[in-house]
Amino acid sequence: MIFDSHAHYDAEAFDKDREELLGGLADAGVGTVVNVGASLEGVRRTVELTEKYPFIYGAAGVHPDEVGALNEKTFGWLKEQCGRKKIVAVGEIGLDYYWDKEDHSIQKEWFVRQLRMAKELKLPVIIHSREAAADTFEILKQEKTSECSMVMHCYSYSSEMAKEYLKMGFYLGIGGVLTFKNGKKLKETVAEAPMEQLLLETDCPYLGNPQNTIEILNKYKFVFQKKYGQNFLIDSHVLEKIIRAAQITEDDFVVEIGPGIGTMTQYLAASARGVAAIEIDRALIPILQDTLSAYDNVTVMNEDVMKVDLKKLAEEMNGGKPVKIVANLPYYITTPIIMGLFENHVPAKSITVMVQKEVADRMQVGPGTKDYGALSLAVQYYAEPEIVANVPPNCFMPRPNVGSAVIRLSVYEEPPVKVKDEKLLFAIIRASFNQRRKTLQNGLGHVPELGIPKEMTVQILEEMGLPASVRGEALTLEQFAGFANRAASLKEQS
Ligand code: SAM
Repeated sequence: MIFDSHAHYDAEAFDKDREELLGGLADAGVGTVVNVGASLEGVRRTVELTEKYPFIYGAAGVHPDEVGALNEKTFGWLKEQCGRKKIVAVGEIGLDYYWDKEDHSIQKEWFVRQLRMAKELKLPVIIHSREAAADTFEILKQEKTSECSMVMHCYSYSSEMAKEYLKMGFYLGIGGVLTFKNGKKLKETVAEAPMEQLLLETDCPYLGNPQNTIEILNKYKFVFQKKYGQNFLIDSHVLEKIIRAAQITEDDFVVEIGPGIGTMTQYLAASARGVAAIEIDRALIPILQDTLSAYDNVTVMNEDVMKVDLKKLAEEMNGGKPVKIVANLPYYITTPIIMGLFENHVPAKSITVMVQKEVADRMQVGPGTKDYGALSLAVQYYAEPEIVANVPPNCFMPRPNVGSAVIRLSVYEEPPVKVKDEKLLFAIIRASFNQRRKTLQNGLGHVPELGIPKEMTVQILEEMGLPASVRGEALTLEQFAGFANRAASLKEQS
């Protein structure tokens, strides 16, 4: 029987069919599993799994991406979980400079603290290290002890470094990467390592396998269409991050814009009540029918999203209740899509999308920065933006030329500022940023349709206690709203 020393059956990707899948593991030859909880929530779910399934044991630790959630209280809770009978290791813990989500110093601090906790509890340790070879080695050399065995999870560094770890008595965790065509370095490492220091692991569902995407694309002889902004996601960590950020539950109806070959759609379908996936490229439709054949809660629509009445769609498919929008957006129409959702008042709880990093920054910033502009104000009028992950180009196929980010826009039920005339507010904002180096009085004065002559701007600014020479880029959303409301009153009076 196979012993899977590293899996994540607590992941949301398994929410729909976990029971069925785990029930079939023995028939598939898998006898024992160590489920690795890598966040506080992951540890909680892991404990649940160990209690429910006799063949599942757990590891409890906080992954370097998640150490922001650690403090004395949560660390104390983690230590308690490590004392449970079926928790057999601490992990996965370590350093990750690839995602670089947390400061290196913070990552190191919690890595060391969790290592010392493992020593105290005499538990084995599962180590995660990505693009942090030197720092990881340094810490492990200092902290290693004969009391805890250690495994380098998903080993991916050089065979020279592997020899060092093997000499120190470490185990190497080896998974499906060994079978990849480009896994030459790992094949060499494994060929030279003693069998008794190798551990088998699936790391499911995370081993992003570009091979699957390639196979599907080859099978259908698919040709990428640059004009449609086709950069397909091939990293399952990112998919999991998007799904987690969107907080999809069984009650949610999701609209996905641009499903591509359906990689993310499958994750969405596994978590949501229903999904409508709108794809412009006709060549992708037979592929979607294939990849989504196991799901009966997905409707694929071969349409241009800019021509779809999404308000009507929410009405028809979700009884008019707010939907969740999730997408890896085609970058050539990111802004029109997002603005269209807001301006057409599509009922949405949240919009969780992959966009260019630069665009995500523009949505999130406040006054006084170079990225601040009409998009920032429009987004912040309708929603609360939060960048949840930065995503490097190598997570896509083909690779884009720019970095990307996942941003979640939690849509307000009521805008945070009250305005008499929304149209006037946005016309003022647009006019202020059309020529952003101009003062507000000149910028607005140059757009006669606004009906706000220079003298009116000067009067309002004075009333608001702002200098006459102020530029639009210095005004907050509240100040723009105040300005627009006063301008509306003065216009009515004149
Ligand atoms: N969701 C897939 C993924 O993450 O792998 C694909 C994302 S890709 C960045 C963008 C997708 O949007 C492509 O499948 C593309 O064909 C589709 N697309 C582009 N323009 C579109 C439009 N106007 N309406 C609907 N889909 C569009």
